[in-house]
Amino acid sequence: MSWDFSTDPDYQLELDWIDEFVRREIWPLETIWHELGPERLRDAMAPLQEQVKARGLWAAHLPPELGGQGMGQVRLGLMHEILGTSPIAPLAFGNAAPDSGNSEILAVAGTAEQKDLWLHPLLAGDLRSAFSMTEPHTPGSDPTQLSTRAVRDGDDWVIDGHKWFSSNGSIADFLIVMAVTDPGARPSQRASMFIVPRDTPGVEILRDVPTMEHPWEQFGAYGGHAEILYRGVRVPGDALLGREGEGFVLAQQRLGPGRIHHCMRWLGVARRAFDMMCERATYRQAHGSVLAEKQTVQNWIADSAAEMQAARLMTLHAAWVMDTQGARAAMIDVALIKFYGARVLHDVVDRALQLHGSLGYSTDLPLEQMYRFARAARIYDGPDEVHRQTVARRILHGYRPPADGVPSEHLPTRRDQARERFGHLLAELTAND
Ligand SMILES: Cc1cc2nc3c(=O)[nH]c(=O)nc-3n(C[C@H](O)[C@H](O)[C@H](O)COP(=O)(O)OP(=O)(O)OC[C@H]3O[C@@H](n4cnc5c(N)ncnc54)[C@H](O)[C@@H]3O)c2cc1C
Repeated sequence: MSWDFSTDPDYQLELDWIDEFVRREIWPLETIWHELGPERLRDAMAPLQEQVKARGLWAAHLPPELGGQGMGQVRLGLMHEILGTSPIAPLAFGNAAPDSGNSEILAVAGTAEQKDLWLHPLLAGDLRSAFSMTEPHTPGSDPTQLSTRAVRDGDDWVIDGHKWFSSNGSIADFLIVMAVTDPGARPSQRASMFIVPRDTPGVEILRDVPTMEHPWEQFGAYGGHAEILYRGVRVPGDALLGREGEGFVLAQQRLGPGRIHHCMRWLGVARRAFDMMCERATYRQAHGSVLAEKQTVQNWIADSAAEMQAARLMTLHAAWVMDTQGARAAMIDVALIKFYGARVLHDVVDRALQLHGSLGYSTDLPLEQMYRFARAARIYDGPDEVHRQTVARRILHGYRPPADGVPSEHLPTRRDQARERFGHLLAELTAND
């Protein structure tokens, strides 16, 4: 039996290198990347990407035959924990969402030709992609209700629909679009995925939806969430990704590992907020002592440390289940970490922000940005409530109503049963009296 929480020393050296590299090269860029714009950000990233490639850490989520490292989810998770400390670090490592998830789908389901056209340039950083599933007028939490349609016309497909929140849609070279191909099929087999170049006639990018994270109007920036009309978008038969009706299966393959990466990245964010909270506690004086001496502040620090540790172990465990038993076996573990990890991120950032008072609320510190980021984590990749429902349903499968409606642990009933079974012992006791 092995039960080991240590990291293999060779890989720890890689993690130390990543940590040092991210702090030295990426953290300084964070403060100006919005000003740089997508093209200059790409220029700034290029030499960093070369260093990552030379170190053999580029696109580590993919198998070796596609230029990745085939590391497995536990190692990847430990890497993402460090990359999560900065919103732009994944760009330097070739595993930024949504490109990383899209490259996984292309790797799993793409034909040789699709890989040549889309996957290899995506991995080389020459193309950008988006994943276009959510619609404004149907619930993203129940995608079996999708209304975007793809209809066969000769050898082509014609797509009509309205999507939004397609992250990076306005700067993507191609979109992976989820559309219903057989409305009469079982719900899980109704939809298929299509590769749609963004410049295909009929693809209308209406806007980047302003959000809590980007409250100002903007268009064409990295990290925007595009609203898109697909009007009679004609794509050839070979734009179909995977088999017809396989859309949900592929989406699950994309989302399982992606959720583990997200949860580990959130821990990177939480850790940075936690460090700010602890630093602040050491020097801010109020009511006769530094904040570190107030019991509420001590509780916040201790609770945050405990929650981050719990989320970390749960996430690494989910990654281990995925590595050793496959994505299907890890489904409940992944649902658990998705809502628990998002809550931990939110609460740690919230406490850190609170401890900084007006400074925390201001844009002089990154805490308010982290807070807005944390709020979204409870919604994307499935809202908290849906993951809780999945977990609770699975747990409840293991339970049945008790006989006669009496709870199994009802003490008077159990006592009567015990008296009947051990009556002779009780009788001896009475006799000895
Ligand atoms: C930052 C960000 C990035 C995103 N990026 C992408 C992207 O790249 N591509 C893409 O296609 N989509 C993307 N999305 C969309 C995201 O996947 C959806 O917002 C999400 O799936 C929820 O769908 P919805 O917004 O339609 O909410 P709805 O499905 O309408 O749900 C609204 C609320 O209803 C409640 N609810 C739903 N089901 C249940 C239930 N069973 N029990 C109890 N309550 C329930 C929950 O509180 C939920 O938050 C992104 C979203 C965000 C915020």
